[in-house]
Amino acid sequence: MKVITRFAPSPTGNLHIGSIRTALYSWLFARHYNGKFILRIEDTDLSRIDLMAVDSILNGLKWLGLNWDEKPFFQTKRLSRYKEVINLMLEKEDAYICVCSSEKLLEIKNKQIKLGYKPRYPGICRNLKIKKDKLNKNYVIRFKNPLFGQVIFQDQIRGEIIFQNTELDDFIIQRSNGMPTYNFCVVIDDADMKITHIIRGEDHINNTPRQINVFKSLGFKIPIYAHLSMIFDESKQKFSKRKHAVNILEYCQNGFLPEALLNYIVRLGWSHGNQEIFSKNEMIKLFNLKSINKSASIINTKKLLWINKYYINNLSLDTLTQLIYEYMTKQKINITNGPDLKSLIILFQGRHATLKDMMESFRYFYEESNFFNSNIEQKYNVIENCVTLEMFYEKINNLFDWEDKYISMIINDISKETSVQKKDINMLLRISITGSLYTPSISSIIYLIGKQKVLLRIRKAINYIKMHKA
Ligand code: GLU
Repeated sequence: MKVITRFAPSPTGNLHIGSIRTALYSWLFARHYNGKFILRIEDTDLSRIDLMAVDSILNGLKWLGLNWDEKPFFQTKRLSRYKEVINLMLEKEDAYICVCSSEKLLEIKNKQIKLGYKPRYPGICRNLKIKKDKLNKNYVIRFKNPLFGQVIFQDQIRGEIIFQNTELDDFIIQRSNGMPTYNFCVVIDDADMKITHIIRGEDHINNTPRQINVFKSLGFKIPIYAHLSMIFDESKQKFSKRKHAVNILEYCQNGFLPEALLNYIVRLGWSHGNQEIFSKNEMIKLFNLKSINKSASIINTKKLLWINKYYINNLSLDTLTQLIYEYMTKQKINITNGPDLKSLIILFQGRHATLKDMMESFRYFYEESNFFNSNIEQKYNVIENCVTLEMFYEKINNLFDWEDKYISMIINDISKETSVQKKDINMLLRISITGSLYTPSISSIIYLIGKQKVLLRIRKAINYIKMHKA
């Protein structure tokens, strides 16, 4: 049997981490067995479709490298197929036309709630054999759900799950606007696309018995199901589309590497011993449904940062240079206006968790700004030390050999001459030249920024201090 899985998002907004995990697990399972991974956009609920969401899903999956086989399917392109099956079901009397008005349905529902029953359609039109051609009013088409018996399936994560047919009702398979519904289309597609394993969120468990009943009525082979537990956010709230939806590409914009994100997501509910770091190939090799955890997972942003940092630190110098080059260029930072990126990566080695962090700490090598401001002035009370800046300016201006070690010697000399501690001079230079409070060796930074720019920045700081001293 060739394994075929699918990811079937409804494009009603951006995905959240849970949906991305569903895509990843389905993809890994297919790739593990050398099978196929199908992407299907479930877009039949026209009132909720967001065209931007389709783009964000396709581009997001591409960025993550979750490649799908064949073209992406769109349910709205398969409407004639659904019509064909619905007609067949009407003919076989596995489905029927229902003309109950929405007012009447509401009245029934309210009564049921009042009496403490679960609201369900009571089957008023089930045996009326209403024919379409004689109708001049709105109608829906309902599935004739079996009245008795059970639906049993072996969930690959939670074991046996049993539903009583008496708990289910005759659900709508075609709305009054002629559009087929999710619980119906999903079955036709899963059957036509020969899906063998359905991996999806546990919020779909209640849909499964309805879908299995449709599979059975059409004589289709029932796929194997695996329902994934929820993911909670850091405040232990369930993930919701409204609160947690992300355009996957935001991770790219925020400087995460796709491999790191996948590595982080795979661990939200799946494990292989205590191992934390998995290459994509390793994930494919090791992934299985048995090691998926039944309990909920919790988002851990610190861990995501830790993993991303690990991946960044383990890239070759050339690859990281290329990535940060592309990242900074996209943010319109002019790389030609400063030192070569490789020397910065070497100098800052191991400090950054994301490409964005890296860009932010490289920015002052390429861009001018007023680095010295009143925040820094108040915090560090540096005005008294202005004289050290003056001295530094003079000595740097006269420095002939522009070398890291001579810059360092100048700082030592000033400290001796003025009895200002070296660490204070370093801090004063750091904030005057970079605006940052944390940098690697300041003499190396000064060296890489270059003499002219450093002189300019020191002059600006001195002017600022003089203006505010009075
Ligand atoms: N379209 C459904 C959703 O976005 C998923 C359907 C399924 O996986 O069966 O929640």
